[in-house]
Amino acid sequence: MIINHGVRGSIPNPSKNTLGFGGNTPCVEVKTSKYQLIFDCGSGFSKVDFSNDLQTILFISHFHHDHIQGLAFNSYNSDKNKKIILTSAHSNSKDTYNNLTNYFNDPYFPVDFIEIINKFEFIEFEKVVNMFQDLEISSIELNHPGNCSGYSITSEEKKFCYLLDNEYESNQKKELIEFCNFSDTIIWDGMFLDKELPDKKGWGHSSVEQGIDLANEIEFKKFLISHHSPTREDNEIKQIQNNLSNIKIKFASENEVIDF
Ligand SMILES: [Zn+2]
Ligand SMILES: [Zn+2]
Repeated sequence: MIINHGVRGSIPNPSKNTLGFGGNTPCVEVKTSKYQLIFDCGSGFSKVDFSNDLQTILFISHFHHDHIQGLAFNSYNSDKNKKIILTSAHSNSKDTYNNLTNYFNDPYFPVDFIEIINKFEFIEFEKVVNMFQDLEISSIELNHPGNCSGYSITSEEKKFCYLLDNEYESNQKKELIEFCNFSDTIIWDGMFLDKELPDKKGWGHSSVEQGIDLANEIEFKKFLISHHSPTREDNEIKQIQNNLSNIKIKFASENEVIDF
């Protein structure tokens, strides 16, 4: 099961014209019979319900606000002793710990973050990759200011790919195709439209059309365009979606539950 807890890029936008697809920033939860895998902790992370019965792993793509701002705002009402593994292919665990504690600190944050951060066990990504025999985990370096890590998970013969935030360049094509091929679900950064790209060069995001072009080259079951621009209103997204010829490509919608 996959739940999109946040599909909006850069900044939450809970306005009446964006709530159809959702206003929270990125967080995707993938649940299997044994694992609860969470990708990023944008504002949508506040809605994640932690499972006492599953091994929970939180993967951080990078440290831009919209991918970490929800970390301190979950009620964490699971078992007090539950440890959540937190890892990132983007940086080592010491830097990951320091980046998060600096972010949730005076003068930017009012309460003691230690109690929250202690719920997590910071483990190097390479170690997490080898920790679980029945979980295949890999990462890909994406093109983004300060870099960003995309992830691929294969479990119970299903493959999931998470590819936010990335400014697509043609020299990434071969590697991206190899990384995503034969996925059951792919999450793609479609923050912009092709016509908007010239003004947004260097911002670190791709277009909807670039995602569709890539999707045409690979085998997949579901391709979800996410990280919607904060100003992209529901009507515009609906209009673009209605014109898509491939029904396997859709715009990600907050709270939608999808088969893994
Ligand atoms: Zn982002
Ligand atoms: Zn970013």
